[in-house]
Amino acid sequence: MMSGSSSPQGGSRPMMSGSSSPWMEREAAAILPTYGRRPVVFVRGSGMRLYDDDGREYLDALSGLSVTSLGHAHPAVTEAVARQAATLVHTSNLFFTTPQIELAERLADTLGWADGRSFFSNSGAEANEAAIKLARRHGKRRHPDKVNVVALHGGFHGRLLGPLLLTGNPAKHEPFQPLGGWVTHVPHDDAAALTRAVDERTCAVWLEVVQGEGGVRSVPEDVLQAARSACDAHDALLVIDEVQTGIGRLGSWYGWQQTAVEPDVVCLAKALANGLPIGATVARGAAAEAFAAGDHASTFGGGPVVTAAALAVLDTVARDGLVEHAAAMGTALRRRLEELVTAQPLATGIRGRGLLQGLELAGDVAATVVGAALDAGLVVNDVAPDVLRLAPPLIMGDAELDQLAERLDAALSTAARAL
Ligand SMILES: *Cc1c(COP(=O)(O)O)cnc(C)c1O
Repeated sequence: MMSGSSSPQGGSRPMMSGSSSPWMEREAAAILPTYGRRPVVFVRGSGMRLYDDDGREYLDALSGLSVTSLGHAHPAVTEAVARQAATLVHTSNLFFTTPQIELAERLADTLGWADGRSFFSNSGAEANEAAIKLARRHGKRRHPDKVNVVALHGGFHGRLLGPLLLTGNPAKHEPFQPLGGWVTHVPHDDAAALTRAVDERTCAVWLEVVQGEGGVRSVPEDVLQAARSACDAHDALLVIDEVQTGIGRLGSWYGWQQTAVEPDVVCLAKALANGLPIGATVARGAAAEAFAAGDHASTFGGGPVVTAAALAVLDTVARDGLVEHAAAMGTALRRRLEELVTAQPLATGIRGRGLLQGLELAGDVAATVVGAALDAGLVVNDVAPDVLRLAPPLIMGDAELDQLAERLDAALSTAARAL
């Protein structure tokens, strides 16, 4: 229905973020207005490159929000999807399907959890929702009131009602209250406050190793250790949301592997199938015993096509050494950002880890810099009013990093002149 209207390549639309396309008017009439989109219509991607409907080329340093970690149209994923789509797409979870079982085994391997077991869903929010229900079943087996959760200010866990309440941003709760009173939030950097908040009614402590949507903010090691100790003392589960940080982005398969703590449950999604919708909730030990038949379900969850895609992702990351490569490129990216902090008055600091980096700016100018970056052919996002997020794909090479740094430098200069 939409085919036949693609634009010719190499068009001459001026390089400015105020450009418009007929698609934008059609969207306004047809799509509920939940998204504030940038005025670009992407129609094609390859590796770290994206192309808009005028044929303009962009360097993608955001990976669709930490999702397309192997770059766009990666041949291994394309091949796995095409092969599986031609073989078997859907049967429901009333039956066994082989890619789902293989993927669960592979995830347990990458986590180093011999007793790890997975539940598959379709998104990050759903991976967290499944973990909420799992933690409640764990808690209620011990005491009928053991259903509360302690989470962190600035944490983000998705937009379904349960994950929304876990999300440590009151402005996101307000339009949808009441959401229930089972979550206590504590500051992301206060170990003592976290210890005080956990009690015998706590079934889980919830956190990210690096808060992604919360502005690329690392959670300090002493808070992670306090969370682990409090969970052990009160027979609660430590749930680490690795939806944004998992599958190599921080330079290890999972962010927690760079810390001294080990969670009971991890939530995965974003990069797991390089852009196909998937969520995974992986549990070990007592947590892996919490669910019984009928406790949770998903019609599409763990379907053959997305799990085949995820297997291709895990194979490629392992075969091409992309976890180690991400660690090396993360260090190189940081060095380039440090140069920008020295050279550009608008850039004031850096935070983050591996290939998830935040560039701190002098004031609430991130939206302006994002617009200037798009004009310069670079995709980044304003994760906070004064912080730019960079999450380039794990496949980024040296030449692409050079170009990223050049275009970001140009964008910062343009933005500084415009302000
Ligand atoms: C993006 C994100 C989610 C939500 O994922 P969706 O697929 O958008 O539901 C949950 N947790 C974290 C840490 C995320 O970054």
